[in-house]
Amino acid sequence: AAIIDFKHVNKYYGKFHALKDINLSIEEGQVVSIIGPSGSGKSTLIRTMNGLERINSGTLMVTGYDLADKHTDLNKIRKNVGMVFQHFNLYDNHTVLENITLAPKIVLHRPEKENHDIAMDLLKKVGLEEKANMYPRQLSGGQKQRVAIARSLAMRPKAILFDEPTSALDPEMIQDVLDVMKYVADQGITMVVVTHEMGFAREVGDRLIFFDQGRILEDAKPEEFFEHP
Ligand code: ADP
Ligand code: ADP
Repeated sequence: AAIIDFKHVNKYYGKFHALKDINLSIEEGQVVSIIGPSGSGKSTLIRTMNGLERINSGTLMVTGYDLADKHTDLNKIRKNVGMVFQHFNLYDNHTVLENITLAPKIVLHRPEKENHDIAMDLLKKVGLEEKANMYPRQLSGGQKQRVAIARSLAMRPKAILFDEPTSALDPEMIQDVLDVMKYVADQGITMVVVTHEMGFAREVGDRLIFFDQGRILEDAKPEEFFEHP
């Protein structure tokens, strides 16, 4: 079943036509990579998927909720669909552990001990158990991004959207983050990833979408894509 389903979606910024007649259906558990030139609308496309940007026409269903309907409670979608940003967006005044426990506590009312145990387990999975009581400013970019992914996973989402998750990182930190993203893929979580990392797209992705000037130009299996003349 489709977890994310665009039908004839258009998005404008004023008069600028940012998304042009998008038809895109993403199945549960798929890992979809999106590539394309800067300014082509990749970020806009994924930001519509959790309501960070509103669409102007067409239909967009995400985890059963209608994003074209202004009355849809976006918090319900955001419980199901996490987001990982280029610049991490961690809470600077909270420890690493608190960054992970905060939303499950407030939004899901997860009991304290369970919440703590899940967070520590996730920190272990991303290799940062010993950083639990540090603050984001004490971490490298790559470590911050791994915390951001752990924070997203703590909500037990159905899908996670990644907006250039490695683009702000020093080259030597990229692989650790990609390894954590591969771990996310192995959990069967649906992933939509705007990225320049062709290795990830090829090895982990099920689909590769080439985006240009607000349109999907190509949507294929990575192996077919790389064979194209
Ligand atoms: P990409 O992620 O492919 O670099 P974006 O989705 O960020 O592209 O942007 C697509 C186009 O929409 C760009 O021309 C950008 O300047 C424009 N744009 C993005 N966000 C806004 C906004 N909030 N207001 C006006 N124009 C925007
Ligand atoms: P990033 O470096 O994370 O891709 P951008 O510089 O593309 O960020 O955009 C930062 C923010 O500014 C985003 O929220 C985006 O929607 C907005 N934005 C991008 N282009 C424009 C634009 N032409 N006019 C207004 N807002 C924009």
